[in-house]
Amino acid sequence: MANPRKSPYIWVTWLAKVMSGDATCHWQGWFQSHNQLTEKQSGDFDSAGWVMSHTKMLTEFKDKLIEEGYIPLIEQSINYKIPNSNIEIAGKPDCVIEEGDDVTIYDCKTGKESPTHQVQVMLYMYLLSKNKFSEKQIKGIVMYKDKEIEILDLPEDFEENFNFFVNILSSLKSPMKNPGSSCRFCSITKNDCPERED
Ligand code: SF4
Repeated sequence: MANPRKSPYIWVTWLAKVMSGDATCHWQGWFQSHNQLTEKQSGDFDSAGWVMSHTKMLTEFKDKLIEEGYIPLIEQSINYKIPNSNIEIAGKPDCVIEEGDDVTIYDCKTGKESPTHQVQVMLYMYLLSKNKFSEKQIKGIVMYKDKEIEILDLPEDFEENFNFFVNILSSLKSPMKNPGSSCRFCSITKNDCPERED
């Protein structure tokens, strides 16, 4: 069974899936925000294959940047505490480059394009604008093998949506479960979620 956390801890990828509508079961993100999993459901997803492809893509990209004279910050943690609360949001963008007043966040994706990837990069942009790079002009780039999506600004209502969904995941009251096809991609086991449908 999972271990309860002392205070809500929200990983950026869980939040991105909820904000983009990719995760139709909000309980999944809520439960992980309040509990540390001690076991994870293995699924159809080839995680070892994904890790290798992602590492290769990021290494090639990093080497190219260094050759071009940049000093990339690779997989550095972001930890942001919501003001006047005990809620922490954490994430790890693949690569950040600071150049004068400009900051660019890159995230490498080996799979097919998804709106969740853009929301994930927007979250990094938002979180970095709140602390380390508050004085800088920040943009984000989602990198696929054959294309790049550039994000120059956050949508006007981004902060409102961010607060809305952080509130759902950090609330003491749990959201409803939504068992179904999304269970296949969920890492919560039947021990922690007896309603799981495989
Ligand atoms: S196993 Fe299914 S119902 Fe349970 S948290 Fe995951 S997605 Fe939701």
